Amino acid sequence: MKILVVEDEMSMQRALYNGLKKYGYAVDSANDGEQALEFIEINSYDAIVLDLNLPKIDGIDVLKAIRRTDKELRVLILSARTEVEDKITGLDTGANDYLSKPFHFKELEARIRALLRREFAQRDTVLAFGDFKVDTAQKCVKVKDQEVDLTKKEYAILEYLFINKDRIVSAEELIEHIWDSEIDMFSNSFKVHINSLRKKLAEHVGGKEIIKNTRGVGYSVKEYTDERV
Ligand code: CA
Repeated sequence: MKILVVEDEMSMQRALYNGLKKYGYAVDSANDGEQALEFIEINSYDAIVLDLNLPKIDGIDVLKAIRRTDKELRVLILSARTEVEDKITGLDTGANDYLSKPFHFKELEARIRALLRREFAQRDTVLAFGDFKVDTAQKCVKVKDQEVDLTKKEYAILEYLFINKDRIVSAEELIEHIWDSEIDMFSNSFKVHINSLRKKLAEHVGGKEIIKNTRGVGYSVKEYTDERV
């Protein structure tokens, strides 16, 4: 999942960046409203964390511009403005949630998770598919209650494939949602991670292929259920 942090206060921007990275999100940071809109135009984000007091273009105007073209993009306003009027304006303009500074990072992360769940119309924090369970709150994957030891990137790839389990996801789409925008599309970093993930999964299911690679199209997850009783 890829998140854009729009924040002009550098210490806060860095704290958000580091905190969200720690939870396994891909994160881009924009320093002002103008840069935010540029980034949104060229990248695919799953959610935006948006400050209101911003240089060049104010947060509310950024939100208005987003809503003119994209009704679905999840936006969480993070603001020091505690006036109830500001909160109402933000929500009326189309923000999906609002959090006042100062805040607890854990609360921010929980709210982002809730926003992303709404996007994918999930009721539960745990996605179950055959014998696999992906716990989006704990960020872990289990096969029949046995945890699969994954890196953050591997987990993020698998979570994205599970959320989109009814279709084939292209490598480009995975990279867009799982890596920060600086990644070189032609680097073999993606291949290394997905191959390692496929190998680890196979080890848990007797060598069966869980992630199918459809050549030239992309990747999809296959349902696995152990038939042995
Ligand atoms: Ca600010």
